[in-house]
Amino acid sequence: AEAQLRQAQKMEAVGQLTGGIAHDFNNMLAVVLGGIELAKRNLPKDAEEAQRHIDNAAEGASRAAALTRQLLGFARSEALAPEAIEPGELIAGMSILLDRTLGDGIAVETQCEGNGWHVWADRVQLENALLNLAVNARDAMDGRGTLTISCSHTPLDEHHPGECGPGDYVCLSVSDTGSGMSKEVMERVFEPFFTTKPVGKGTGLGLSQIFGFVRQSGGEVRIDSAVGAGTTVTMLLPCHAAKAEDIAAPERIGPQEAP
Ligand code: ADP
Repeated sequence: AEAQLRQAQKMEAVGQLTGGIAHDFNNMLAVVLGGIELAKRNLPKDAEEAQRHIDNAAEGASRAAALTRQLLGFARSEALAPEAIEPGELIAGMSILLDRTLGDGIAVETQCEGNGWHVWADRVQLENALLNLAVNARDAMDGRGTLTISCSHTPLDEHHPGECGPGDYVCLSVSDTGSGMSKEVMERVFEPFFTTKPVGKGTGLGLSQIFGFVRQSGGEVRIDSAVGAGTTVTMLLPCHAAKAEDIAAPERIGPQEAP
């Protein structure tokens, strides 16, 4: 708990710092990308070499823009907008996106359908988190393997499906059959900017962003990993009983409350 609190404070500091920079960068990059686009349109068709340089510049700028977007997401300080979400439905709605992200060599298995449990979380952030976990899994599997998304409920035997009380969680797990993580990597994965991926591929913000989102939602992230066997990342999110009146009037929760 001590370490988690330190982590949260560190993230808040990094978040404030990067938020300001990322915001300005984003605006400047919009100018750069706009300029490149215009230059490209005005080039004569046979200026192949210049086209190539311009395409390279555009690609670099787009990557920088993607990074600043991720930084902005990480530094996001506006309140989350939680709602009751059925994980099975959310994941089914993401299946095309997931298939496209993972590629042909990776089979996707989901075990979340129709159990009636709802989580109380921000939909956009939750989709983002799942997508980030899928990208990490894909990278760890080198394009081949199985990704499994499963859902469970804690405490597992105290309630009937669909009935959940305060302090109960729905657990969303993403497992891969990839490289796994060493103890050294495990210890640092939630650190902002910690990455083992090559420059341009990893930002080291995926898991710290997920950590921040899940904590702000009143939940917890757990990781199990074995080198050479694979990794399971589990998000425990507050369980929500699906009552129509609650779904109709979602409350807003503020940023970063230490549990
Ligand atoms: P990034 O993916 O940009 O590197 P993350 O914060 O998402 O940033 O992950 C940090 C590091 O944790 C990765 O660089 C990788 O070493 C490790 N990691 C994350 N997910 C997995 C996974 N599913 N399997 C193996 N290693 C992982």
